[in-house]
Amino acid sequence: MADASDPSWLPGPVAVLVGRDYHVGGQGADEAEYAVCPRCRARTVIIDYPEESEPDEEAWQPFREAIATWKKSGEGNTPCAACGVSVPVTEWQWDTNFAVGALAFDFWGWPPFSVGFYATFSRQLGHRTVEHMGKF
Ligand SMILES: [Zn+2]
Repeated sequence: MADASDPSWLPGPVAVLVGRDYHVGGQGADEAEYAVCPRCRARTVIIDYPEESEPDEEAWQPFREAIATWKKSGEGNTPCAACGVSVPVTEWQWDTNFAVGALAFDFWGWPPFSVGFYATFSRQLGHRTVEHMGKF
C-alpha cells in the first residue's frame, strides 16, 4: 500500500461486489488451476500447467456446475474424486488466482497492500480472504 513515501499517490476507486460469484486475478483464466479437498487434501488438477493452458473439461465440469448452482441457490457441492465426500464449493481450496465468495472488493489503481493492511482488512471482515493481483 502506498504511504507517506509517495506523497503524490491518491487512492483510486474501490468497487464493492456483493453477491455469490467466482473471482479471478486480473488476467486469470475463468477456471481454477486446481482444487484441494479440505477433507483429504487430495488435489484435483484442472489446468495441467505448463503442458496445458486449457482446463480438463472432465475435471472442471463438476466444479463449474456446482459453482453455477451455488450462485443461484447458495448451495453447491462437488464430490471429491479421492475420498468421495461431497464438498461445498466454498470449502474447496483453490489455487491463488481463483476464489468463490459473496463479497469482493476491487481496488483500482492501488499498489500492493502492505501485510499489515491486508491482515487488518481480513480480520475486520472475519472471513477467509484471498488477495488477487491484477494488471491490465
Ligand atoms: Zn477428498
